[in-house]
Amino acid sequence: MRCILLTTIFVISTLTVFAKNNGSITAISIKQNPTGIEITFTSDKELSRFQKPEVNGNTIIFRINDIQHKIGKIPKPKNVPFLKESKVVILKNLVAYTFETSKNILSTQISKKSEKVLVLSITLSKPPKAKTTKPIVKGKTPQKPTTTKKETIEKIEVDKALVEVEIKTKKGSKLPLRFQDLNVVVIDAGHGGEDVGAISINGHYEKDITLAISLELQKLFKKHFPKMKVVMTRTTDEFIELGTRASFANKAKGDLFISIHCNAAAEKPSDANGCETYILRPANTDNSSDKKGGDEKATKDDGLKRASKEQSIYLPFSELFATLIQKEVPNSIGLTNRGVQTAGFFVLAGAKMPNILFEAGFLTNESDEKILISPKQQRKIANALFKAFLLYRKEFQNLL
Ligand SMILES: [Zn+2]
Repeated sequence: MRCILLTTIFVISTLTVFAKNNGSITAISIKQNPTGIEITFTSDKELSRFQKPEVNGNTIIFRINDIQHKIGKIPKPKNVPFLKESKVVILKNLVAYTFETSKNILSTQISKKSEKVLVLSITLSKPPKAKTTKPIVKGKTPQKPTTTKKETIEKIEVDKALVEVEIKTKKGSKLPLRFQDLNVVVIDAGHGGEDVGAISINGHYEKDITLAISLELQKLFKKHFPKMKVVMTRTTDEFIELGTRASFANKAKGDLFISIHCNAAAEKPSDANGCETYILRPANTDNSSDKKGGDEKATKDDGLKRASKEQSIYLPFSELFATLIQKEVPNSIGLTNRGVQTAGFFVLAGAKMPNILFEAGFLTNESDEKILISPKQQRKIANALFKAFLLYRKEFQNLL
């Protein structure tokens, strides 16, 4: 690693990991691309820690830790009509950048162009045609769908009855032959490395909790299905780009993709609590730009929709697994059941196999946080996920 911070005479080689973080943002450039807005942050030192972008309506907050911002106001770019406002707030150990857009935010993605350059891509969409049904509620009444929308904007709760109907009508779906057996399971621990994910009330990182649950789940698979291949997108604290996770799963010819995350509300602490499981929004619920023929431009937005269409054969299976997770996990852990939800998560859109994204609970909620950071409870969550898998294994062939 480079010792790039030796501006003083102290040679603190063993501490370079910490010491090298104190760089400054030297430039921010904003441009519009076919799918939305791309914001590039350049620093004079390595950008080693940042947080998951927080989306709240049309506003996105992106926080970079251990960095300084001395370039003043963010310049208003020309030719980016969808960007309404930019703001920078300098806090003690971090800088929070807020961007307000004039269109809904569909998803966000962070990519590292180099050690000193981070790109925040904001995918915008037309306002969702909200067709909201009541969420599945068991036990405690969940909070209103949270104000946090994270990587997505369209949160449409799926009614359980709808899921069942959907599963029935999709019976006989043309799932590729290799899926008729479960040989390869892919476990994706959300975030990692510089992408710490959400930060809990008491400063715990989402990336550590997702990894702990994922490793526990891996253990269960290895113990009970020694012949099954369990592929982990990461087993250590490392940064992996979203797109890489799905392509990794595809290369491994996964039969099931399980992405594990934790939720966070905009406010800390917040009442929003409970766990939920996401599946991709079916292609036919979003007809906003479903033009046929003509425009072959492969925008990321279209990419998401196309992926959803391509994914329609996996959807009944994903729905089944998601439903079983929500049946198993909340009750056995004592978490509020927020039900099965649909969204256009980027990480799922790329996975060519039945796939779900599990949000284990809210790091911004006091009682959820206690559960999420406890190794014992993490093991219990993994156990419940595994039990859901066992039920899925028993049931899924009925859909073939
Ligand atoms: Zn996450």
